[in-house]
Amino acid sequence: MRKKIIAANWKMNMSCAEAAAYLEILFRELGQDEEVEVVIIPPFTAISKVSELVSHSQQVKVGAQNMYFEKAGAFTGEVSAAMLRELFVRYVVLGHSERRAIFGESDETVNKKTRAAHEAVLKPIVCIGETLTEREAGKVEEVLERQIRGSLAGLGAKEMTETVLAYEPVWAIGTGRTASPAQAQEAHAFIRKTIAAVWDAPTAEKVRIQYGGSVKPENTASLMSQPDIDGALVGGASLDPRAFAQIVQHSAGK
Ligand code: PEP
Repeated sequence: MRKKIIAANWKMNMSCAEAAAYLEILFRELGQDEEVEVVIIPPFTAISKVSELVSHSQQVKVGAQNMYFEKAGAFTGEVSAAMLRELFVRYVVLGHSERRAIFGESDETVNKKTRAAHEAVLKPIVCIGETLTEREAGKVEEVLERQIRGSLAGLGAKEMTETVLAYEPVWAIGTGRTASPAQAQEAHAFIRKTIAAVWDAPTAEKVRIQYGGSVKPENTASLMSQPDIDGALVGGASLDPRAFAQIVQHSAGK
């Protein structure tokens, strides 16, 4: 049984003061229910604050939006996995489509980061997904398989089970266009099948695969009831603590 994992990717939003106000509302709305794992992923500048404010919670953890694969050195503007660990970060998003498209990250870079994250005992949330052009050209499976083999190359079975995958069709991110539950399930089942082929079936059964792309309270239940969808990576709707709390609750069938 895979525990659902719902993550709030705040992107380049939220000051420390805004984060504190947000968390106060979120904890009130969530109550004591711990059925679903929740990850708050603030910009680097608010990580300390968020870590401090969620430290009492078993349910809510902190993530980062990116990291560099080297341990230390002359890499202006970058942060290492160990630096994130020092701030009690547990998850790190790698290879988000915005990092791939705007900052030129390749599967090779994402792979180096994924390995470095595991070395530092940080759990990577590795994003994969096709563009609209790729979908229309019938290349969804080809793209997903290339990204899985490239971004996750060299991981052992144990590291693989501690990696979260996020299937995020690029055409659904920030556009208001969500993949239908059937489209998302089809892609998730293919991803699990590919993991079973590259690693093994028991490993594939354990890996959690999130869906991301215009998730909101109204479409959560139908997406999360699909057999291979194990959570969500939420962008826009995660900026409203009440909407995000509803997404968490609906993902547990409430
Ligand atoms: C994302 O950026 O990971 C995302 C899924 O964004 P949105 O929910 O806004 O589509």
